[in-house]
Amino acid sequence: MRESMGKYRGKRVDGKGWAKTAIPPKRDRMMPDTVEDMKRKIDKRLMSFAADGRFPAADDAFWRGWADELFMEPYRGNPCIVCERTHSRKTITNKKSGKSSVVEYRSGFHHLIPKNGCIIHRYTKRNGAVLCPWHHTDSPKLSPHYEHSAMANHRFWLLIMERDRDLYDWVVDHEKDTFESFGMKRCWTYRDALIYQYHKSFRELPNVKPKAIEAARKWQSFFAKGE
Ligand SMILES: [Zn+2]
Repeated sequence: MRESMGKYRGKRVDGKGWAKTAIPPKRDRMMPDTVEDMKRKIDKRLMSFAADGRFPAADDAFWRGWADELFMEPYRGNPCIVCERTHSRKTITNKKSGKSSVVEYRSGFHHLIPKNGCIIHRYTKRNGAVLCPWHHTDSPKLSPHYEHSAMANHRFWLLIMERDRDLYDWVVDHEKDTFESFGMKRCWTYRDALIYQYHKSFRELPNVKPKAIEAARKWQSFFAKGE
């Protein structure tokens, strides 16, 4: 089910032509490429916090953002379940200047049970499907986040049902967790989540206290290294 890139095919929004043979870039322009790259960036930030003697609060967006990136990195650049592309173009608007440009992004992990509503399955590997940016947010035919067509969202779910009935049933069984997670007192923080992803890459963050304690211990040992 390969779709055309529509009006963006063959030309850039700034009027300059795309190269005739568009070679996918080795990495996104706005995302680090490898886990090692990301870890180096995280280390650098941690060192600068240490130099100031001030660290972000345990649930600060700093920890959440990097925990999410480390969790999602293994899925980036994998074939989209709809079109099998590993990259696609996306129009980005610069908020300050208002200028639009088209950037090539790698495919990534789409949360089936949305991570904003459900803390329980934010780092659950099963709770995902790999989509290219076009099918993630922009396709009017099939995209879980395309906001102008409920049918585009519906076709995404039909595809999941057809391809992997067990996964579809898992989502139906666990969507109630979204409501249970409202007001839930977490026994781990996003700082724990980052430490967990940093040290035990690509594993799920268990929602149990002993693991959070284990994560905190690793956090301490990590900082001991930098002193
Ligand atoms: Zn796609």
